[in-house]
Amino acid sequence: MSDAIVSCRPLSPPAGGQPGAAGAMLERNCSIARTLNVLSDSWAFLVLRECYFGATRFQTFQSALGLPRQTLTQRLRKLTSQGLLCRVLYSERPRRFEYRLTEIGIDMYPVMLALLAFGDKWLCGSQTPPIFLVHNLCGGVCHPVVACSHCRTEVSAKTVSWRDGPGAGASAIVKTRRTRRSSDPAILERGRPSSVARALKVIGDRWTFMVIREAFFRVRRFDELQAKLGIAPNILTDRLGRLVAEGILSRIKYQDLPERFEYRLTEKGRDLHGPLIAMLSWGDRWLAGGKPPLVLTHTACGHDFDPTVICHRCREPLRAADMSYKLNYVLPPDRDRTAKPGRPIVA
Ligand SMILES: [Zn+2]
Ligand SMILES: [Zn+2]
Repeated sequence: MSDAIVSCRPLSPPAGGQPGAAGAMLERNCSIARTLNVLSDSWAFLVLRECYFGATRFQTFQSALGLPRQTLTQRLRKLTSQGLLCRVLYSERPRRFEYRLTEIGIDMYPVMLALLAFGDKWLCGSQTPPIFLVHNLCGGVCHPVVACSHCRTEVSAKTVSWRDGPGAGASAIVKTRRTRRSSDPAILERGRPSSVARALKVIGDRWTFMVIREAFFRVRRFDELQAKLGIAPNILTDRLGRLVAEGILSRIKYQDLPERFEYRLTEKGRDLHGPLIAMLSWGDRWLAGGKPPLVLTHTACGHDFDPTVICHRCREPLRAADMSYKLNYVLPPDRDRTAKPGRPIVA
């Protein structure tokens, strides 16, 4: 997933786009894609975000997000069935349940922080980021850094190489609503401004993410992308156009006659490496059945590593229970104040 990575051999077998034995389309096993399936459902993501702000009860979520009851019920159910939340009885008469983060849900927190760091850096324009993170362990406003678990220095696309892990390979594509683009950012930010929501909007739909992932593998040309991904030309044209407009890819001419272009990651695009490997790490832990598709090596220290999100000040891993927040915006006066930002409530 980097200049260093792409000097290694490609994943085997090759990425999807080729029919399997039963005629099914295959795609490469990828812990990032699996994690994104959980995160890129906009409403589920927003519910999870409110959990990190301390929300546990139906009314609190509803007040914060303005969701229809049925949609909120479905998303709470989905996050519970995926194991990120658990239902806890808090009142016998009437019987009422609240939703608490499980270990799996809490473990998504570093992914949120990596997305937040990207959003704060690239998607706030000249404005102050919506929130400041305060790391209670060292007492300061901190910036999340995606680092090597071994040496705790920041990693980037240039200092990470990979090799196939025990879960490498390809699987049949499970048909979901995966071509749907993520929701309008105005909806995602209706409850509160959010750098994470903005970052997810950039990578949040399946095809956009796949194009970015292939760019990290140096698949840069239209027909190569089409062959690798089995993507319809009109969808690929649309996603490439959006990614160029977002400043994630740049369109560079590589041939004059006939005129041909390829798509390369910009500096902003290469900065998605941190959030992507944070997602990979979560997907490896919870969705890979103990068989990670990729093993990452930090070329600067020479060790295999798990991407870890640390505090830029004290270099300690950032845990949800150690954080508090300073909001740089004002909540609407009718907002249910029971969900004050602060330490998340953990099951
Ligand atoms: Zn290292
Ligand atoms: Zn710290």
